[in-house]
Amino acid sequence: MPNVSEEDYQERLDDCFNCEHFLENLNRCGKCGCLVEYKARWKTTKCPIGVWKQQIVGEGGTSLEGKIKRNEENKEGDNTETSDKV
Ligand code: SF4
Repeated sequence: MPNVSEEDYQERLDDCFNCEHFLENLNRCGKCGCLVEYKARWKTTKCPIGVWKQQIVGEGGTSLEGKIKRNEENKEGDNTETSDKV
């Protein structure tokens, strides 16, 4: 799974550590239950409430366009991506 840059990783962690939903004693996000040290590392993950965003990756894990805009249509707590497009 492709990783974000070290700078982006630290920014994501800072956001999580300062988030009201961060469960410090478990090191997990209280919204999705993920361990933030792993969740924040991967390009394909995103914050369930849009504090930080998924980074689009293409073949071979190359970045297509960097960070994408927050998807306001996602339901809070939904951390999955689905598509019917072919
Ligand atoms: S992933 Fe989002 S909601 Fe969860 S702790 Fe981090 S900033 Fe907060």
